[in-house]
Order: sequence, then structure tokens, then C-alpha cells
Amino acid sequence: MGCTAEDVVAAVRAGAAVMAEHRDELINLDRVIGDADHGENMDRGFRAVRVKLDEVEPETPGAVLKLVATTLISTVGGASGPLYGTAFLRAATAVGAAPELDGPAVAAALRAGLEGVVARGKAVAEDKTMVDALIPAVGAARAGAEEGAGPARVLAVAAEAAHAGAAATEPLVARKGRASYLGERSAGHVDPGARSTALLLSAFADSRSPE
Ligand code: ADP
Ligand code: MG
Repeated sequence: MGCTAEDVVAAVRAGAAVMAEHRDELINLDRVIGDADHGENMDRGFRAVRVKLDEVEPETPGAVLKLVATTLISTVGGASGPLYGTAFLRAATAVGAAPELDGPAVAAALRAGLEGVVARGKAVAEDKTMVDALIPAVGAARAGAEEGAGPARVLAVAAEAAHAGAAATEPLVARKGRASYLGERSAGHVDPGARSTALLLSAFADSRSPE
């Protein structure tokens, strides 16, 4: 079964709930290698998204993703707002006006999101950023879709890979963003943006019943 606009709204709302739930954890991760605002930024952005979704009912999955993008761009300061905003915007463009998304469409949306983050932030693998969660997520999503997985399964394998990618940022020395100012001292801590990416993907995945 395809993923409808209603399903995408449910996924985004689940993501918002997880950002609220993990606000302090993300703040604490950012406290050690950044400026302690990542949890606040993400929670603020997704609270604004919830308010928007109470006001309007986007008709397609792409329209939901676009609403998320514009809201995050206008409400989240810092590096992560424009990066996540660009990711959702590119994902929206990738899915176009399709009324429902199948497994390959979800995988393509994730890939477009990663490309957006890279175009904007210029990070590569192992720079200790959200890209380190997104790269394995995109790979797993593509493999899943090629094996015929539906949208829920594609999101589930992507989320699992993203969590592994986020955990693997711990020993890395940051080469992008605020954490890079710490040089070698950034090693030994998980990157907050990689963690929030993994949390969002598992929230999206869990919002759908298994197929
Ligand atoms: P700020 O760093 O401005 O305080 P946040 O704390 O909200 O913004 O977000 C920090 C996160 O943004 C980092 O943990 C990292 O994952 C991500 N990030 C920072 N710079 C880049 C970049 N150039 N490319 C990809 N992700 C980045
Ligand atoms: Mg910060």
C-alpha cells in the first residue's frame, strides 16, 4: 500500500513528538561539541510544523514535505534549520505531485534529501554531521526498495542504518559545523545532528503499520 498525504502527516507528527521527547538529549549532545541548542532548535521547528498542520491539510505527500521545509527554514536558526529545510524541500521536489508514495519513491525522496544537505553544507562522509546518518540510510532504503520493500519497510531499514551511522560518529573528529572548532576534542561524542536524523527516521518508520 502506498504512503498517502495523511500517512506523511502522521509520520511528521510522530517526528515532532520524538523531537520533543529527545529535546534534552539533543541539547546535551550539542552542549559537549557545540552550543547546546540543537534540541531546542529541532523542538521549536517541529512544534511550528505541528501548528501549521493544525491549520492546513496538504493534499499530497509532496505538499506535506514542502510545508515542513518552509516551516523549518523560517523557524529554526543555526546550521540545522536550513540543512533540514533543504532536505525536506528536495524530498518534496523528488516526489512531485504523486498522490501516494511507494517504496522506490520513499527511497528516492531520502536520496534527494541527502543531496540537498550535501549541496548546502558541503559535508562528506565522516565529517561528523547528519550526513553520516543519511548516507547509510539512503543506501539501505535503496537496497530495500530494489528488493521490493514497501514504504514502511524502506523507512524501517533506513532508520536502522541511520542509527548505526549516528552511533559511528562518536570517535570521529568533526570537520564541518561548530563542532569542527573543537578539533580533536570533538572525538568521543555522538554528533547531535546525526542523532536527530536517526530519531526522525525511526519516528517516521514507526508511524506506519508494518506491511
Ligand atoms: P548550530 O551548529 O548552528 O548550533 P544546530 O546545533 O541546530 O546548529 O545543529 C548542529 C548540527 O548540524 C550538527 O550536529 C551537524 O550534524 C549539523 N551540521 C552542521 N554543519 C553541517 C554541514 N556543513 N553539513 C551537514 N550537517 C551539518
Ligand atoms: Mg548548536
